[in-house]
Amino acid sequence: MSVRERLAEVRDRIERAAARAGRDPRSITLVAVTKVFPASAIFEAYEAGVRDFGENYVQEFETKAPEVRRLAGARFHLIGHLQSNKARRAAELFHVIQTLDSAKLVWRLDEAAQPLDIMLEVKLSPEQAKSGADTSELPAIIEAVRSSKNLRLLGLMTMPPWSDDAEPSRPYFQRLRELGSQHELPHLSMGMSHDFEVAIEEGATFIRIGTALFGKRKKP
Ligand SMILES: *Cc1c(COP(=O)(O)O)cnc(C)c1O
Repeated sequence: MSVRERLAEVRDRIERAAARAGRDPRSITLVAVTKVFPASAIFEAYEAGVRDFGENYVQEFETKAPEVRRLAGARFHLIGHLQSNKARRAAELFHVIQTLDSAKLVWRLDEAAQPLDIMLEVKLSPEQAKSGADTSELPAIIEAVRSSKNLRLLGLMTMPPWSDDAEPSRPYFQRLRELGSQHELPHLSMGMSHDFEVAIEEGATFIRIGTALFGKRKKP
């Protein structure tokens, strides 16, 4: 199947999940996750109508960026863990940083002096990956972003512990939504190939889809 065909299928599933939840499917942005795939995958998805792309590694995207930066209207999201020594470079390469998880990173990104959309990565359980801020740290980080000069806070992002099924993700998505409304943040980045429909039912406004569009990845 081509990326175009897979995209049509994913869009169809987005629409059906949105209908179940009584939501407008246009309120959900599909972020095509192209980590490990070459720049040609980005072009292919762009041709099929995708405008938002997710990459996990600053260094990997650095090699693709010269080719793809010129795509009109394309937005590139960093969705992998950001180390503070790469913050400046990340601010230059990406339009959205979804994985901000410390006040220290706020200062580093703000220093890069470029307007940047930000999402805070939240860690909701000890089984989740090491990255992400604890919920107790959120108020301080949110305050730091809100008082920065160049950073615009869109919302929260999370990645539940891995499972083959979708339902185990639901309580994490519900928790993220509660935190979002508590802090008056409009956007929630949650849901991947295996659980995006559940994420949509729970209020996702960004879903991050790799495998369902591009097929299985080889290990990086
Ligand atoms: C790789 C990745 C995705 C996409 O995962 P798929 O299961 O391939 O859809 C989404 N979010 C993050 C943070 C990722 O690292």
